[in-house]
Amino acid sequence: MTVQVVRVAVVGSGPAGLYTAEALFKQVAALGDALDVEVDVLDRLPTPYGLVRYGVAPDHPSIKSIATYLQRVLENPPVRFLGGVRFGSDVTRDELLACYDAVVYATGAMRDRRLSIPGEDLAGSVAATDFVNWYCGHPDIDPGMFCLDAESVAVIGVGNVAVDVARILAKTPAELYRTDVPELVLAALTASKVREIHMIGRRGPAQAKFTTKELRELGQVAGADVVVDPAEIDLDAFDPTGESSRLAESDRHIRGNLKVIRDWAARVPGDRPRRLAVRFWLRPVEILGSRRVTGLRLERTRLDESGRVVGTGEHEELPVQMVLRSVGYQSVPLPGVPFDERTCTVPNAEGRVIDLHRNPVPGEYVAGWLKRGPTGVIGTNKSDAAQTVRSLLADIQTRKTGAGSRRIEEILDGRGVQPVSYTGWLAIEQREMELAAELGRGEKVKLVGWDALLAACGAARGALRGAER
Ligand code: NAP
Repeated sequence: MTVQVVRVAVVGSGPAGLYTAEALFKQVAALGDALDVEVDVLDRLPTPYGLVRYGVAPDHPSIKSIATYLQRVLENPPVRFLGGVRFGSDVTRDELLACYDAVVYATGAMRDRRLSIPGEDLAGSVAATDFVNWYCGHPDIDPGMFCLDAESVAVIGVGNVAVDVARILAKTPAELYRTDVPELVLAALTASKVREIHMIGRRGPAQAKFTTKELRELGQVAGADVVVDPAEIDLDAFDPTGESSRLAESDRHIRGNLKVIRDWAARVPGDRPRRLAVRFWLRPVEILGSRRVTGLRLERTRLDESGRVVGTGEHEELPVQMVLRSVGYQSVPLPGVPFDERTCTVPNAEGRVIDLHRNPVPGEYVAGWLKRGPTGVIGTNKSDAAQTVRSLLADIQTRKTGAGSRRIEEILDGRGVQPVSYTGWLAIEQREMELAAELGRGEKVKLVGWDALLAACGAARGALRGAER
């Protein structure tokens, strides 16, 4: 019996990419012995796991354990990791299509959305994506980027990322000591002058995007009192549509959030060194300052009869020296791959990339946030990836994909690119564990910067597992 080997490149080794790799070998196995699969997972970084490594907050080790699950995917024989390979320059779209039967794009969403208000580019106005990357030790971010000399910080947005950054700012150094935050980040957080954190939602608590578990954690921070103004959580005061009250009755997640918030509003604030104010029905209209941020001008909002957020003309100014803009992520276009600038996603039908005429582009697929936008929890990407792989394998079986004949090793070699293999990644991880042991910190401490990461790979660079293919 001849076995058809399907060769797939997955671009991006975050949860979406690795769930795609897993779905590929599991779904192929379920199809019987006539089909086999080889999956190369490419990443521009020398490290796998994407947002699990450089997005999940360091004090959330339980979510980090997803990395253990994803590690088993990477260790599966049909899968190879090719880190430090940049799509578009180290290898182009056309070259990948010439090497593989199919290419799946899973590069996530790492760019911040803009507020588009005056003062957004002042020093001290920062995208939450940069702040998250900083405390996660992303190699593209200078570890000395933040010195946290602001006493008062505004966090714009009430999603889970806003909750993460507010919590990290509020925590004591002792609460972060055993996490994997880089040493320089820990030093900056230890020296932090931040005393007040204002987390600001442009709609009410019933419309907030955070989830109850994450919200509740804000109240468990040892050194901070959470403060809520009872007037701002009155469900009917700013909402003539009655939507907020209806949501509070019909949606148990919203009921859970409201319970936490109402408990805070009923508390007498203590005397902890930091104060974390959770505010609602306020939208930023201007970030104030001449060179650096000195304040934030907010406008009181409400819903109109059609449920849209509108300004009331009533303003307030917060004296803050830092503004963290946490209003959602966006994907960035990949060179040569169709992209919808309106939704910031790759246009697709059930994971098949489609062109302007809505026809599938042979051999190209998309998964994760790049496919559906930055929504859902990490696990959402599993079913999402499985759908993309079902489309891919259905096409393979009806031979709609083009069989690639070139080899990626030759292309990378020709450009002097030495990919970081899975063994190289394990060497990085080993060095991070040794560093933690030397410093007497937790299980791992992140290495910072490209040089340190590549130095830790040592001779393991370029030696691809399964290179005999
Ligand atoms: P998000 O959940 O979409 O929240 C964005 C927030 O920004 C919303 O409150 C939104 O308000 C607000 N916003 C948007 N534009 C604004 C503007 N112009 N002015 C003021 N506010 C504005 O995005 P995210 O927090 O970046 O999270 C992204 C995804 O990652 C989510 O699916 C999230 O659950 C997930 N995540 C999960 C965890 C976890 O599970 N622990 C941690 C981090 C992230 P409106 O609703 O009014 O638009």
